[in-house]
Amino acid sequence: MKIVPPSIQRLIREFNKFPGIGSKTSERFVFHLLKQPRTEIEQLAQTLQDVKVKVHFCKECYTYTEQEVCEICRNPERNRAFLCVVAEPKDVLSIEQTGQFDGRYHVLGGVINHADGIGPEQLRMNELLERVEREHVQEVVIATNPDMEGETTAVYIAKRLEGKPVTVTRIARGLPVGADIEFADEVTLGSAMKARQKIL
Ligand SMILES: [Zn+2]
Repeated sequence: MKIVPPSIQRLIREFNKFPGIGSKTSERFVFHLLKQPRTEIEQLAQTLQDVKVKVHFCKECYTYTEQEVCEICRNPERNRAFLCVVAEPKDVLSIEQTGQFDGRYHVLGGVINHADGIGPEQLRMNELLERVEREHVQEVVIATNPDMEGETTAVYIAKRLEGKPVTVTRIARGLPVGADIEFADEVTLGSAMKARQKIL
């Protein structure tokens, strides 16, 4: 690596931190950037800053938005009685792409993971319970990943909603165990949403 200038090495290391990006790909990114005109690079730097400065959580559903309330929450055509609970903002995008869901979302900000010390109090669990009551939600569909943490979280939510006038469903197991919602194709995730099962 000594033949590579330090600034190039630094950028390679930065890309290498990205999920799923190895050293070879990082190198390709950097050498691609070096060939671009200066204006392109300046625009990229500005775009990078913008996502951090302009983007924050929607105050209703906690997905990412540049407004106070996101597009989906503001859309009067979305079914307000139907709430889909997901772990992360990226899961909202995955489910939206299936076109099988016309309700609104609630982003927990993670899942219960005892090994990592993440309990319900670290997640937007109370906000969820408040929303279900305040917005008179009739069905909560839990769309966490079908792995141990996702299941634990689903069971916890179902228990907390027990006795309340709301149906709790879980997306069906069209998804393989251990799979990530993010990587499921639209057809599989779409059918999992349609075939959701009542768990409470
Ligand atoms: Zn929202």
